[in-house]
Amino acid sequence: MVTLRKKNVDVPIVAVTGGKGGTGKTMVAVNLAVGLNMEGLKVMLVDADVDGPCCAALLGMKLDAGNEVRTFRPVIEETKCVGCMKCVDACHEHALISLQGETPIFFEELCSGCGACKLVCGYGAIGDGWKTIGTTYTADADGLKLVVGELKPTEPRSPLMARATVLRAISELRNGGYDVAVIDTAPGVHNTVAQPLWVSDLALAVTEPTPLGTHDLKFILALARELELPVEVVLNKADVPGGLKDELLNICHERGIKLTAEIPLDEELLRSYIAGEPLMKKAPNSPAGKALMSLILTIRDRLKGGEI
Ligand code: SF4
Ligand code: SF4
Repeated sequence: MVTLRKKNVDVPIVAVTGGKGGTGKTMVAVNLAVGLNMEGLKVMLVDADVDGPCCAALLGMKLDAGNEVRTFRPVIEETKCVGCMKCVDACHEHALISLQGETPIFFEELCSGCGACKLVCGYGAIGDGWKTIGTTYTADADGLKLVVGELKPTEPRSPLMARATVLRAISELRNGGYDVAVIDTAPGVHNTVAQPLWVSDLALAVTEPTPLGTHDLKFILALARELELPVEVVLNKADVPGGLKDELLNICHERGIKLTAEIPLDEELLRSYIAGEPLMKKAPNSPAGKALMSLILTIRDRLKGGEI
């Protein structure tokens, strides 16, 4: 599918990402957004983890009724189709297959909704079909704007939904006088993650000092390099007993990647999850709260200095 390449809006965007789930990526994104907001910046937090968005729950925010996201799907009329295969050749996603002289078969889960097949069909055999793939929501509280994308259950095309979420966020950013947007991406290194990374100015890769954390960090760093996106590392659970912190430091050192923050294990984080209140509000003076504040002030200063 076509990937977003430009954001067309002059607001710095910081993506918080991670090679695997459960590293604390959303916790960092939420607290970074809340902390920057508490520092007086106008902040938009974008939840682009469309398979399971949970920023609203962590913030205790109530979402609006939402906007349905629909995508084009070709509807082929067999009586008009002459089996010329032009639509098959035009489909870069290989969502249409056929033999010469036969009506193509459509694989919806591969379709990006680009409409190229309809454009090239010279026989008027492709009509408009539409499918709802999810919903985008917004919420506001205490000067913090939240934009959320949620994939419809059973819908497999999360990259399309991530793209729609980013586009909704950019459209909201154009109207708002924002100082920064923070995007919580999906975990992993697939196209759902690449969509928000393409429009970002900096990626914070959140990881933990475990074998899986070190393994997956290499992949997310490789993805950022492929996208030519500046990336830095945030080490969560930094002091976990028996952890592989030295190995992570080596990975960063070898690649010339900055370790921007180390967040220690802290029971207050668990309490903040249970309370549905970000740590920066619930316990800013806890060990993890202080580490997050240091990250927040670093990003704030770099935003103010025009470095992001
Ligand atoms: S381009 Fe139109 S006529 Fe040709 S195979 Fe596709 S649907 Fe049929
Ligand atoms: S809209 Fe048509 S050309 Fe585009 S991906 Fe779907 S089937 Fe392929």
